Amino acid sequence: MATRAKQGQSGGNGTTTDKSPTAVDETKARAAAEGEPKPGQRAEVSNLEIVRHYFDLAVERLELPDDIRTVFWTPYREVTVQIPVKLSDGKVHTFSGYRIQHNGARGPYKGGIRYHPEVDIDEVRALASLMTWKTAVANIPFGGAKGGINCPADQLERDEVQRITRSFMDKIEKVLGPTRDIPAPDVNTNAQVMAWLMDEYGKLHGHTPAICTGKPIALEGSYGREQATGRGCVYMFREAAPQIGLTPAECTFVVQGFGNVGSWAARILQQLGAKMIGVSDATGAIRSDRGIDADELVKHQLQGGGLTEFPGTEVISPDDLLAIECDVLIPAALGGMIHESNADRINTRMVIEGANSPTTPAADEILEEKGVHVVPDVMANAGGVVCSYFEWVQNLQHFRWSEREVNDKLGGVMRRAYRDVSARAKEERISLREAAYLVGIERVVEASRTRGYV
Ligand code: NAD
Repeated sequence: MATRAKQGQSGGNGTTTDKSPTAVDETKARAAAEGEPKPGQRAEVSNLEIVRHYFDLAVERLELPDDIRTVFWTPYREVTVQIPVKLSDGKVHTFSGYRIQHNGARGPYKGGIRYHPEVDIDEVRALASLMTWKTAVANIPFGGAKGGINCPADQLERDEVQRITRSFMDKIEKVLGPTRDIPAPDVNTNAQVMAWLMDEYGKLHGHTPAICTGKPIALEGSYGREQATGRGCVYMFREAAPQIGLTPAECTFVVQGFGNVGSWAARILQQLGAKMIGVSDATGAIRSDRGIDADELVKHQLQGGGLTEFPGTEVISPDDLLAIECDVLIPAALGGMIHESNADRINTRMVIEGANSPTTPAADEILEEKGVHVVPDVMANAGGVVCSYFEWVQNLQHFRWSEREVNDKLGGVMRRAYRDVSARAKEERISLREAAYLVGIERVVEASRTRGYV
């Protein structure tokens, strides 16, 4: 197992003391008793607890009976497989692979595959259910699923990742298919991994590009897919900004996690005239009030430079990054990064959640008290799956749209999602997050009932 540059990691495997969902005061008292968490750590509360909390709030408000709640909380199908692979250290390493199909009432299951040592079945369950609500909020005809392998992909050789990927596909192909379940990239998986998945599936079923999305352009991938999640965040910002009196060209912003989502969101926001004044990745954080050029930072990294070595900036601690006074904060790293021990320090007007579950419920309450406008993950980062839908449509027709067409269509879907959720939030005087869950769950329940599934 050879080490190479790390792309995505949890920022130290430690966790903080945030045990939400619980009352904020109770959690604060516990945090104080157990000492200050180290900067840049994730909360102890799991992704599953976070999603469950918002699901419970929504089904309570919708007054769904208990028997029906169980159907929509528990996944339809869970597959766990063993992936033994001989690595370059000469030993056989046994990884666990998961594919969880949460709900397919509105269409084929859809969701990414994550490679990360911290992947476990509960995290995949949480992310699968989040996909069900996300595809419903975006109103695209998919259900929700997620997959993952607990392998340290960022420390493996390319060939090792390829063998793990092919072995995983061989073991789960029976539950996949272009009308059943369509995987996509997530943390530490990319277009190359999708190409291997498609190739392996093709050996058994013939050439089937619609088996997964996020593929390379050379293999019927869609123009605009790589940028889509970051671009979607920017469409959300453009809808939300006038509601709280922000002018895009005059805005400052901070990005936590300068990976696929974070770097594209930054590059596209910059095109609107907004200025990035702080940014981090797993290796550290930097700031500059004069502005940090996101395109130049990407170039610097492609040439092998570390984020903290970017010229003209000051290196700061990960928690000081969150405290920078700015108009927009984009968490785009991993789940649980904004918790009750650091939410107090956040000094922004708007949070756009590029990552999945970056904010714990306790932190969410603090942000609400501070009057921060939070655009929640379940709609803010839907751009990726919306563009995946476009890729699937193009693949089924063996036809290709231009990048402009893709971006325009993406804008249309994202704007509609924001407006639907925002109207519901206003009507019921609730947060955008609660409203998004209401809209998503209602659509899924309606589809299930109309089909006669429940
Ligand atoms: P990525 O691996 O490309 O980027 C993750 C970035 O976060 C990297 O720069 C990594 O260094 C950084 N990071 C890791 N730990 C950190 C820490 N402790 N502090 C600061 N930065 C840290 O992954 P991605 O595809 O950009 O995904 C990021 C998040 O967005 C994930 O939560 C993912 O589930 C979510 N998401 C991604 C997509 C997509 O299309 N890629 C779609 C929807 C949601």
